[in-house]
Amino acid sequence: MRLVLLGPPGAGKGTQASNIVEKYGIPHISTGDIFRANIKEGTALGQEAKSYMDKGLLVPDALVVSIVKDRLLKDDCKQGFLLDGFPRTVNQAEALDSELEKMGINLDRVINIDADADILIERAVGRRICKECGATYHIKFNPPKVEGICDKDNGVLYQRDDDVEETVSTRIRVYMEQTQPLIEYYNQRGLLLNVDGTQAIDAVFTVISEELDK
Ligand SMILES: [Zn+2]
Repeated sequence: MRLVLLGPPGAGKGTQASNIVEKYGIPHISTGDIFRANIKEGTALGQEAKSYMDKGLLVPDALVVSIVKDRLLKDDCKQGFLLDGFPRTVNQAEALDSELEKMGINLDRVINIDADADILIERAVGRRICKECGATYHIKFNPPKVEGICDKDNGVLYQRDDDVEETVSTRIRVYMEQTQPLIEYYNQRGLLLNVDGTQAIDAVFTVISEELDK
């Protein structure tokens, strides 16, 4: 099973990624993780990527594609993979397609965990975290027994700086603008599986696995 996973920040992509790789026994390939691993191991690709990142520049597509391709050629990807965080643009998607074609394989599905921006904003803005134990609450959906206080250890609850409305809505808007052409690209190729990410986590995974098992 060769899959790509897409979804806006806060739509529960990480949880679904874990569920998918566990059920289908495929590696979870997060580009963030491969970059960090390559840099840590000091590979040539890692050093090249680091030279851009150190200057605060975006790593060029060609290099990102090389790093991903290098990872896809490893033995554990023979039965498939779940790509997460890549591709981000239509350019990268085309490059991925052409690399996969050279390897004689193709993508099976592109799972898009879809959620309305307003709902994602409400979820993020209402999130509160315990200073002591890191437990998370939501002022509306999962409130603590006493406002502002952790149920477990009476720790003070706080809001992360990047969970304020303006930051969250910018983050989501930028993601959606960037990703829309990519979603369209995969839709035209008949690969897109849109899943409503506002359902309960278990329900989202049920839909995904039913579709993948078809
Ligand atoms: Zn706590």
